[in-house]
Amino acid sequence: MSTTADAGQGGEVPSGAGRVVVVGSANVDLVVDVPRHPGGGETILGGDLRRNPGGKGANQAVGAARAGGADTTFVGALGHDDAADLLLASLDRGGVRTDLVVRVDVPTGTALITVSPDGENAIVVAPGANSHVTVGTAQAERIGAADVVLAQLEIPLDVVRAAAAARRPGALLVLNAAPSRELPDDVWDAIDVLVVNEHEAADLAGATTAVDPSALAGLLLERVPAVVVTLGGAGSLVGERLPGGNLLTDVPATPVEAVDTTGAGDTFCGVLAAALARGADLPDAARLAAAAGALAVTRPGAQDAVPDAADVVALAERTAPRT
Ligand code: ADP
Repeated sequence: MSTTADAGQGGEVPSGAGRVVVVGSANVDLVVDVPRHPGGGETILGGDLRRNPGGKGANQAVGAARAGGADTTFVGALGHDDAADLLLASLDRGGVRTDLVVRVDVPTGTALITVSPDGENAIVVAPGANSHVTVGTAQAERIGAADVVLAQLEIPLDVVRAAAAARRPGALLVLNAAPSRELPDDVWDAIDVLVVNEHEAADLAGATTAVDPSALAGLLLERVPAVVVTLGGAGSLVGERLPGGNLLTDVPATPVEAVDTTGAGDTFCGVLAAALARGADLPDAARLAAAAGALAVTRPGAQDAVPDAADVVALAERTAPRT
């Protein structure tokens, strides 16, 4: 397959910003409100179609750049279609460098989403170009200059492996293991910080969600040196494996009026990576990420709901004043 690098834009880089490379998926989300989800063989009429930029990788890249203020590059793959234009425009607006995005002769990743009145989503994903993300020479070079490499599991595991291998010594691999799937030993061993919600934590730990988050974090710390278990409106739990034993820190959610929780987890991951890239410790990075996740749930959409870094810092300082 022929691939070409896209001559996209780079964002404005604040001084002192850490460097983050996000390796992951980009999808256009096609969303329709429906009175109820259709059964097999059934046709129903829904509301007006919305086309939103999405995909965990692209969402997290906008989170790291706009909400986290990091110098952020997105390594992903797009087709040659309208959906790609929509995604590139959104990444550019978010201040993400898109010059290493490859274009392939396969449709851009697409998520078909119906939303029923009770807010339940039914989703079909056509990964398309996301199955063709590659770490070539230019991508490996940029990854080699990053402080943090942030990946998710909507792309082939081999790409996550290649990204991990391209890190410079001391750079962190933050893996948001979503959607969760079984991980081979070499991928487990490459992870510096694992970020998972409660369901993904239970899957990866081989437990049920009935197991409490501290126990899940304890199980995961047998495989990785640090973990963040996100708990929606209940905040998150940070676990760190230290020489004296495991340290667990509760990070409360920032109280807000929730409008749409889409993208909260992705904004959280992006800001966490940005703060770690600037040298923050994990609990402080999670506190900043919680403020960003909270602001994201006050707005509809995913990339469009990502707040500005100044608002994130202001909210974090208001809700947890530093001494
Ligand atoms: P995911 O979408 O991956 O399941 P979560 O729902 O756990 O992720 O959200 C990630 C983080 O975003 C949470 O740990 C929390 O800090 C913040 N967050 C999510 N939902 C809310 C909410 N309703 N109110 C405030 N903060 C929230």
